[in-house]
Amino acid sequence: MFRRAPKRSDNTQYYEILGVSKSANQDELKKAYRKAAIKNHPDKGGDPEKFKELAQAYEVLNDPEKREIYDQYGEDALKEGMGGAGASDNPFDILEQFFGGGAFGGGSSSRGRKKQGEDVMHSLKVSLEDLYNGTSKKLSLSRNRLCLKCKGKGSKSDTSGRCYGCHGTGMKVSKRQIAPGMIQQMQHVCPECRGSGEVISERDRCPQCKGNKVTQEKKVLEVHVEKGMQNSQKIVFKGEADEAPDTVRGDIVFVLHQKEHPKFKRKFDDLYVEHSLSLTEALCGFQFALTHLDGRQLLIKSNPGEIIKPGQSKAINNEGMPHHQRPFMKGQLFIHFNVDFPQSGFLSPDKFQALEAILPPSPNKQSLDMMLDECEETTLHDVNIEEEMRWKERHQQREAYDDDDEPAMHRMACNQQ
Ligand SMILES: [Zn+2]
Ligand SMILES: [Zn+2]
Repeated sequence: MFRRAPKRSDNTQYYEILGVSKSANQDELKKAYRKAAIKNHPDKGGDPEKFKELAQAYEVLNDPEKREIYDQYGEDALKEGMGGAGASDNPFDILEQFFGGGAFGGGSSSRGRKKQGEDVMHSLKVSLEDLYNGTSKKLSLSRNRLCLKCKGKGSKSDTSGRCYGCHGTGMKVSKRQIAPGMIQQMQHVCPECRGSGEVISERDRCPQCKGNKVTQEKKVLEVHVEKGMQNSQKIVFKGEADEAPDTVRGDIVFVLHQKEHPKFKRKFDDLYVEHSLSLTEALCGFQFALTHLDGRQLLIKSNPGEIIKPGQSKAINNEGMPHHQRPFMKGQLFIHFNVDFPQSGFLSPDKFQALEAILPPSPNKQSLDMMLDECEETTLHDVNIEEEMRWKERHQQREAYDDDDEPAMHRMACNQQ
């Protein structure tokens, strides 16, 4: 197929930033990043911008999925969300995953750091029409927000005590006998303090959130489904997920899920449609109207004198799916033709003769007439080849099984009795 590739943007810069070749393996990437990150760390007087660039380059290249997208389509593709969200906002996150916390002697990276909140994923069902025309959907979600009254402290006095249930650790260990002599130890979040390790006395609890520190809020998000977006593409609302004390808000992520279309199939930016012609249309020409995904009626017709064979395909340029972010460019629309033949005996014998006279002559009729006496008669009967093959396969399997089950020796012994 002649598919237009998405626009390429620069796809070498990340390699240059890390100073490695395009064929570098994970190990080489890791070494190069480690060296450069130490050299450029802001705590050691390095340039924060350069440090951020390094982290971004490493985050992409170290992820095989993101690296592939980057190699193929460049940085823009990652920003467009082809492989999920782009690079993380916090270059220290990556560094910390890499060296573990406090790698730089309690430098700015570990001071006052917040936990990363979880991203919330939602599946968003869309029709092929939605992806063709673009649409926006309003969705109402409920999410946690820090309590406004106590500003997320949970108490009136801003004091709290250590939880008795877990001694302030937030975790509890329970033991369970799973078999005689076998004890399973399980660690789980303390139910009394819900993992915070602290309790607020009944009297001191914030009346608004009842000590929970957060309250639920309804939020309506408007999701813009852009023309040409793909099935399973992600639409990210940065930092819109639940809020919690000392936590960086995660993202709300909508994953597009395209419903099957009764008529059109999509592959990349191309559309496929099946159309059945009668034998008369296939031989004598046809025209029909096809309703497109935006409601337009396309007039589809054969060229004069053209014959369509069963299984033949035709294409119409620029009537496929719009390219995402360049919707004025569209893929192709492919039409696959089936030909419905008439039933046996639809014509009387004399009409068949008339038809034969019109249709092209059969090429070997004359030569066969001469040797007819030497041929043997045969009878053709209808058959479903696939069904026949399945039956034979089953039959053969059973025979092989019977052979295994009943060794020759055993059979002989039986016969002698
Ligand atoms: Zn506890
Ligand atoms: Zn409160």
